[in-house]
Parts: sequence; structure tokens; C-alpha cells
Amino acid sequence: MSNKKKEPNLDSVTTINEDGSKLIIHPADVSGRFTTLRRITAVFLLIIYVVLPWIKINGYPAVFLNIADRQFHLFGITLFANDLWVLFFLISGMAFALFVLSSIVGRVWCGWYCPYTVFLDHVYRRVERLIEGDAPKRKKLDRAPWTAGKIVKRGTKWLSYVIISLILAHIFLAYFISFPELWQLMRAKPSLHLGEFYFILAFTAVFTFTFGWFREQFCIIMCPYGRFQSALTDDDTITVTYDNVRGEPRGKKRKDQIDTSIGDCVDCKRCVSVCPTGIDIRDGIQLECVACSACIDACNDIMVKLDRPKGLIRYDSRNGIDTGKRKILRARTYLYGVFILLGAAVLAFTLYKKARPFHAEVSRFTGASYISNDDGVRNIFTFHVTNKRRGDVTFTVSGSGSEEIQFSEVAPIVVSELKTKSFTMGVFTTKADYDGSKDIQFTVKSSDGSEMTLDATFSGPNKHMYKRPKEEEVE
Ligand code: SF4
Ligand code: SF4
Repeated sequence: MSNKKKEPNLDSVTTINEDGSKLIIHPADVSGRFTTLRRITAVFLLIIYVVLPWIKINGYPAVFLNIADRQFHLFGITLFANDLWVLFFLISGMAFALFVLSSIVGRVWCGWYCPYTVFLDHVYRRVERLIEGDAPKRKKLDRAPWTAGKIVKRGTKWLSYVIISLILAHIFLAYFISFPELWQLMRAKPSLHLGEFYFILAFTAVFTFTFGWFREQFCIIMCPYGRFQSALTDDDTITVTYDNVRGEPRGKKRKDQIDTSIGDCVDCKRCVSVCPTGIDIRDGIQLECVACSACIDACNDIMVKLDRPKGLIRYDSRNGIDTGKRKILRARTYLYGVFILLGAAVLAFTLYKKARPFHAEVSRFTGASYISNDDGVRNIFTFHVTNKRRGDVTFTVSGSGSEEIQFSEVAPIVVSELKTKSFTMGVFTTKADYDGSKDIQFTVKSSDGSEMTLDATFSGPNKHMYKRPKEEEVE
């Protein structure tokens, strides 16, 4: 790892040195309107992350991904494993919403709302700032030999990272097992819940590594959303942009100097020093820019000091800067909007058609598919009924098919809320009536009037072979 100063350029990734090693970025402190707004947003999002598994809606945590019972509680709605098709619509709907957002305001998601940025910029980097000081002090510490003082500072920083990662990993686990169960696990021996223990260890290690060392590399070289940007945005997308018309040619000039041959950019490089991905926004919109808006605040500060209008770097579109004309809604935003509406319509229609307050499945009893003897042919079917409602529900099941097939009586089954119960039903026909395999149907009815029809096949031996009289009977 080397930390030689590298000038931002468009030909290589700023955070990777010529020899392939990682260049540690130490963004300078910045303050201003956008920085304050981002901090408030981040605190709000962090609170949401922590409290979501605590808030109960309809008796369950607001977000509770109960993989063990294959139940997914999302803001009062409970989805079961057989409802996961809904997730396709939810995820694709969110993706298209993100597409619309990106086409209008670029990577605002990355800089303001992405959990990765929130944890990196507003938790881990804040801790680093607290322990090692501002950017110049951190750079100096990087270059300093390994004295006792440096070991103590670095040790404290990494220990803090591990503790924070441990807390985050526990909160993350709560999304899968709920807080009450997490609390029980925390008080029990790790050997009694090794799976969860390894989960915590693994995520603590991953969080410590990514947020402590890997950092902005994730956004630059790994995040798939970042790769989509050039396809999602165009010259009308409003994003963090440098006004080269006003700023160029850049050059030094005094506060009171009137020199129209020089633009407003004084080439102080303050915008570069605050950038968490180490780029120079004056080189144009780049894949590495996560739209954090730190360079806007930094440049505004300089402009105020020079008594010039703010906004040399601002939220604007390329066309806005070149022509002064801005177009928020355009063909691609309409197109993405149509996709969202189509998805919502299909989801609503499918929910209307398929959503039932319960789910039932039928399968053949494990083992022989039928039993045949001189009395007749018998099949046994197993039913699994899941009650998706709150409160107990009573279910009845009946069968229909050919006249010669008899269905055994099954007593009404009471299934508790969000639970599954299994039971069996015998289906029989006498030897005299047996007429080969037949399609049959079962109807499962709930006490609140919903019903579901299940198709099955009553199977048995070849009817000619089975019904042929024995030789002595023939004689
Ligand atoms: S902070 Fe503003 S004035 Fe300074 S280099 Fe960047 S764009 Fe130019
Ligand atoms: S160029 Fe500006 S908005 Fe983009 S990442 Fe750097 S500081 Fe943030």
C-alpha cells in the first residue's frame, strides 16, 4: 500500500496507484448547506435502520425476514415462501423507481441514501476523524513511523471499527430473528447457537474490512448500480456539475481583481481535497462521482470568500450549463414511468386474482402411490394448509371426481395464525367399480368463506390386469 499523492485524471482510477496498490483517500472536512442536510438525512436513516426491527406492526417487527419459518413480514404484510413472486414486482418496481430518479437527478441515491455511503461517511469516517484528527493530521499519521503514539491511535481506531461492526452485525441479524430472540441468543453460550454466532463473526469481519479499508472502492469498482449510470443519465440529468462556461479558463486572481480573460475557478483544488473518491469534478461527470455534493459546499465557500456568486459547482444538467435550458421530464423518464405503471397494474391484477387468506397444497403420501388388494384400490393424499390470517381459522376439505371414487371424511382442521398444518385423506374405490386412474379435485374451504381447488390424480394398477378373474375362478 502506498500513499503517494496522485493527481486525479480521467485515464485511471484515482484511488489505485500506478503499482496497483490502494491509495488511501482522506477527504478534507467541509461544511455547508448540503453537508448539513446530508448529515440530518443520514442520522434519520440510521435511526430507521436501528428501530425497524423494534417497531411492531400487526404483532410482528416492521421488517422481519423469518427465513426459518419462511415468513417475510414487511410493514404489516406477511408473505410466505409461495408468495415470493410478489418480490419480483417489488424489486423490479424499486429498480425502475431508481431508474426514474437517476435519469432526473443522477446518483442522488448513492450520495444521500445508500446504506453503504451512510455507514461509511457518517459512522466510520466520523470515528476516524474523532480519533486521528482532520485530513492533514491523518495524512501525516500515514507517513509517520510506527511509534507508540501511532500504534495507540491506529489500535484505538481499528478496535472502534470492530465494536461498531459488531453492533451493526447484531442489528442486521435482528432483521432475521427479531430482537427478543437476539437478546436471548446474546445471553446464551455461543456453542448453543453456532449458526448465528458465525453469522455475527462473518458480518463483523466484512463490515470492518469494507468500511475500514476497502471504502469507496466498493462504489467505484464493485457496485452494479454505479455501472448503469452512463446508460441511465443523459445531458438533461441534473447532477453535481462544474460550470466550465463560468469557471474556465481557470487561474489565480485576487478578490478585487477584474480580469475577464480568467474564469471564476481559482484552481484552489478545494473541490478535489474534499472529494471522498478523490476525483476532480472539473474534468466532467465521472463514474467515480457518488454525488455527495461535498465539492458544491467546498466551492461555495471559496466563492463567498472571493465575493463571487455561489454555484460554480452546483446541481445542474450539462444542457443547463451549456444552453441555460433544463428539461426534467423527457422520453426516458416517461418510458420508465410507463414500466412502473405497467408493473403496478400487473401486480394489482395478480394480487386480486391470486391473493387468498390461506394457501393449500396436496401431495401423494410418501411411499407407494396406491394400495390395491381384493377390496379395491386406495390412495392417500397429504394436505398442507397455511393460514395467512391473524387469528385461528377452521378449514374443511372435500373431494370430487368420478362417481365410483369415495373420499374419506376429514374432521374440520383448526390452523393458528400464520401457521401450517398437515393432515391426510384417504381416497378409495372398490375392485368392482375400479375404472383405472382418474383425475380428481379437492376443495379446501376456510371458515371465512374462501376456497381453493386442488387437482390430483387417483392412481392404481392397470385395470384389465387387476380386474381379470383368477384362474380357479374362471374354471
Ligand atoms: S473549489 Fe471551486 S474554485 Fe476551487 S478549484 Fe474547485 S471549482 Fe475551482
Ligand atoms: S465529485 Fe463532488 S459530488 Fe462527486 S463524489 Fe466528489 S465531492 Fe462528491
